[in-house]
Amino acid sequence: IDCSLTVVGSINADITATTSRLPAAGETVGGGRLSRSPGGKGANQAAAAARLGARTRMIGAVGPDSDGKAMLEALRGAGVDTDDIAEATAETGTALIMVDAHGENQIAVCEGANAEVSLDGIEFRADEAVLTQLEVSLDLIVELANHVPGFFAVNAAPALQLPAEVVDRADLIIVNEYEYSQLPQLQTAKLVAVTYGAKGSALLQGGEQIAFAEAVPAHPVSTVGAGDAYCAALTTGLTSGLEPERALQAANAVGAAAVEVASAQPEFDRFETYLSGLD
Ligand code: ATP
Repeated sequence: IDCSLTVVGSINADITATTSRLPAAGETVGGGRLSRSPGGKGANQAAAAARLGARTRMIGAVGPDSDGKAMLEALRGAGVDTDDIAEATAETGTALIMVDAHGENQIAVCEGANAEVSLDGIEFRADEAVLTQLEVSLDLIVELANHVPGFFAVNAAPALQLPAEVVDRADLIIVNEYEYSQLPQLQTAKLVAVTYGAKGSALLQGGEQIAFAEAVPAHPVSTVGAGDAYCAALTTGLTSGLEPERALQAANAVGAAAVEVASAQPEFDRFETYLSGLD
């Protein structure tokens, strides 16, 4: 594959407390186990793309704190160019997650530095693809829609109404089944990819399905990050010139690999490995 990708998006420290049960309002539950891991849809997608073999840079922001340093380290470790990640005045974006013994969770997200992501001084080339998600401000997404000269992909997650100019400009909008049901405006988009979890994924134009691929069977450990890995892989595949159905199949294979690992930023093989695994 031959793909240059710029991911514009969120970088979060995921701070997880695993407890026997979730506390009710006003209640304290002790005996928790704490873990910290890199997250944020933007960072997850950038790490996945780089590991798959796309030349990947990320535009985002972290705070002047130890979490920020750790998140940058994680991205560099995956092979992401982090030169355009700014140090913001606000703290690094954080997701405070509580998980109980049954895997039920409660999550509070603090945007922090993600609210300060800016395109000041950033240049985009026509031969690079840009992939973004909705954990940064919608104003920034509109600015991207107006400035990106090349392939422009938007993962419309979480489900927020998109400004019309973004829907009109995007070359690809990626959503899961729920997000698709919440965004009727996608009927007029150029190209929409819809993911159906263990059922697979499809490409739609004008509400009509133009390609579908069954999921690749997996033994799921955690679906966290599967959607992000899928977005990175599909954008890489489509902009490397793969046929739509083949790009869907490869992205499904990458999504399946992601659900078999607990991490939101798992290791991946090169993209070609998933392609050859389909034959
Ligand atoms: P996330 O849980 O990361 O937010 P999502 O809801 O955005 O995910 P899904 O539709 O759950 O996205 O998954 C994205 C893709 O990952 C699917 O289209 C599929 O290819 C793959 N995938 C997800 N779950 C499974 C599974 N149980 N078995 C095989 N493949 C899966």
